[in-house]
Amino acid sequence: MLLKVENLRKYYPVHGLLRKKGFVRAVDGISFGLDKGEVLSLVGESGCGKTTTGRIIVGLERPTEGRIVFEGKEVVDWKPIRRFVQMIFQDPYASLNPKMSIGEHLTEPLIVHGFDRDEAFDEAIRMLERVGLTPAEEFYLRFPWQLSGGQRQRVAIARAMILKPKLVVADEPVSMIDVSLRASILNLLMSFKSEYGLSMLFISHDLSVSRLISDGIAVMYLGKIVEMGDVDSVIENPLHPYTKALLSAVPSFEKRIRFEIKGDVADPKNPPKGCRLHPRCPLAKDVCRREEPEMVEVEKNHFVACHLVH
Ligand code: SF4
Repeated sequence: MLLKVENLRKYYPVHGLLRKKGFVRAVDGISFGLDKGEVLSLVGESGCGKTTTGRIIVGLERPTEGRIVFEGKEVVDWKPIRRFVQMIFQDPYASLNPKMSIGEHLTEPLIVHGFDRDEAFDEAIRMLERVGLTPAEEFYLRFPWQLSGGQRQRVAIARAMILKPKLVVADEPVSMIDVSLRASILNLLMSFKSEYGLSMLFISHDLSVSRLISDGIAVMYLGKIVEMGDVDSVIENPLHPYTKALLSAVPSFEKRIRFEIKGDVADPKNPPKGCRLHPRCPLAKDVCRREEPEMVEVEKNHFVACHLVH
């Protein structure tokens, strides 16, 4: 297994006027694994903890608790694995430095990792051609503000791929891009997956996109994974009420699955006791208000945390 995430937690302290008032439990005890060449989608509404999970895996944030194991070794210092673990951010405008040329964005990581300037230039030109930004010599000299959103995301992908990483965390990489360009950006990402044998953690709120590109899906709600498994198990046989509600909001699934949850997501500073979905779940029973459901394997490689399913 390339990546193992074990009981990961990230709590952010909330400060009042004079003292600490509690914690936002952004990620609250999640575990999953990712094999070489596999794409796992982490799916959920905004604020469920999926981006925080991705940021911890690439070393942009430190976990409060839990272990990240990469290629069999626990990661305590991200420096030695940095070139192998890259992130593509949601916002192609914010992810590039406006003062750096596209060429500098691509050559900088190569030079940091020991390439000389000529090698780095040749590699950057090859990569610009590879991501479809041609004539490459012209794009090399441009600045981010001279590019469209789709072109900037191609640069962000090129920068993430230029060191031939083993794992990429792609955080909603097409959600801020014009709808007409999304398929081509996803195809580009998937072409790197086949070429490099890359593994990918694909963070998304859109199950229809996740279904197209993933081997596995993990559904998150309020800092917890509530259902996880092979893409076909989760999409064709969703068992958790929250997964059903997410699927019934997707136009291509709504005829097949109709399930509604009510109300808004609870405050992550003060999550509900028992099952975190219980205030919104139409199937909630007394036990749901008292006890937190365990994650149980209900069929081969299909895990669900719901009292009604066990
Ligand atoms: Fe709904 Fe209970 Fe299942 Fe939670 S454990 S999702 S409240 S049925």
